[in-house]
Amino acid sequence: MLVKDIEIITMREGKKEIIHGDVFIKDKIIQEIKPHSEKSKDKIVIDGIGKVLLPGFINCHTHSPMILFRGVADDVDINTWFNDYIWRLEKNETPDDIYWGAKLAIAEMLLSGTTTFLDMYFHMDKVAKAVEELGIRAFLAWTVFGVGEKIGEKLKDSVNFIKNYDGTASGRIRTVLNPHSTYTCPPSFLSKVAEIGKDLDNLRSLHLCETKEQVEESLSNYGKSPVQICLDTGIFDKPIVAAHAIHINEEDLKVFKEKDVRVAHCPECNSRYCLGIAPIAQMVEMGIKVGLGTDGAASNNNLDMLDEIKLAAILQKVKLNDPIIMSNFEVLKMATYGGAQVLGIENELGSIEEGKKADVIIFDFNNAPHLNPKIDIISNIVYSAKSSDISHVIVDGKLIVDNRKIIDFDMKKSIDEVNLRSKRLLEQKGELMVEY
Ligand SMILES: [Zn+2]
Repeated sequence: MLVKDIEIITMREGKKEIIHGDVFIKDKIIQEIKPHSEKSKDKIVIDGIGKVLLPGFINCHTHSPMILFRGVADDVDINTWFNDYIWRLEKNETPDDIYWGAKLAIAEMLLSGTTTFLDMYFHMDKVAKAVEELGIRAFLAWTVFGVGEKIGEKLKDSVNFIKNYDGTASGRIRTVLNPHSTYTCPPSFLSKVAEIGKDLDNLRSLHLCETKEQVEESLSNYGKSPVQICLDTGIFDKPIVAAHAIHINEEDLKVFKEKDVRVAHCPECNSRYCLGIAPIAQMVEMGIKVGLGTDGAASNNNLDMLDEIKLAAILQKVKLNDPIIMSNFEVLKMATYGGAQVLGIENELGSIEEGKKADVIIFDFNNAPHLNPKIDIISNIVYSAKSSDISHVIVDGKLIVDNRKIIDFDMKKSIDEVNLRSKRLLEQKGELMVEY
């Protein structure tokens, strides 16, 4: 495959670099980047005139099947959202609901430029099936809770999934150890998870310090902050992605730096539920690895990384009352190379470099009034672009989205399934869904 005559934001070594040329892709790999030449024998040729190529977005924190609950609880506080809606709706979810939810979520992610996502949910074998079918790359975690019934059994399911699914879908799926959070997993359970995790080389992830109350409760219940609990139980002893990390102090940040705790920043969900603004600028300054996440569509309400990119910059400026902080390049890096660092895959993904895996997205600036003039194409992508400007998506060297269409994907069927299943789940909970 050849993408010819195109502007390339390379993100090489996480640095700012824009070049113009041709990109050759073969055997899943970016083989060559060189000055444009008209000669080509390649089978698939994408004309890059007026277009911009960059690494695919990496969504470091989501719950893909939760698109089934998109729009169920917009204007509520986080406790109402959990207790009155999510926990009650999830009770009736079937494995097939999860499959169809994940499938449509992946379609949404691909069309908005995400080529890798870290997903936490249940029945992850069903999500793996959707990943396999749609050709995206994913880090999948079968979440475990340390409260409720059948805890040990569920932990076994999760560990079996980690062992059986790592490296599947031609290597596009990797698995993750995922205790849900410190507020749903008591310290004794986290110690057990850390013990089991000693023998596993997989990445870890959990929700951390989303609300002030979580930190206060942790201090009053255990005399320790959530970060201290993770440190003491051994949860931080292997590479881990902490989602949110909003209510953390200077001491916590030192722990992050020392233990290489990486952060998945989810600005949109955090803002909507007034959870606070994570100290991202400070983390970047300290050299803590930061990526971006959408969280699930029940709290966002989309899986569009462009929203997160833009908001990540704006919120830090508001938080610190400093318009200079958090440059357009810095936030675009978080969505690409930074995300790869968070997942520990920066040697193979996250930038456009010869020898790296070909996960590539293309923005079409032609016929897009909002993307012109092209004074600073990074600025255009961060502040002006819409995901509908993404014309092509390539994952693992394969063209998945061609001129805004996902190849070999029955969109109507997926949309119909999700509407039906979502309606049933709301009815089972006793909520009415609008008829259409
Ligand atoms: Zn989450």
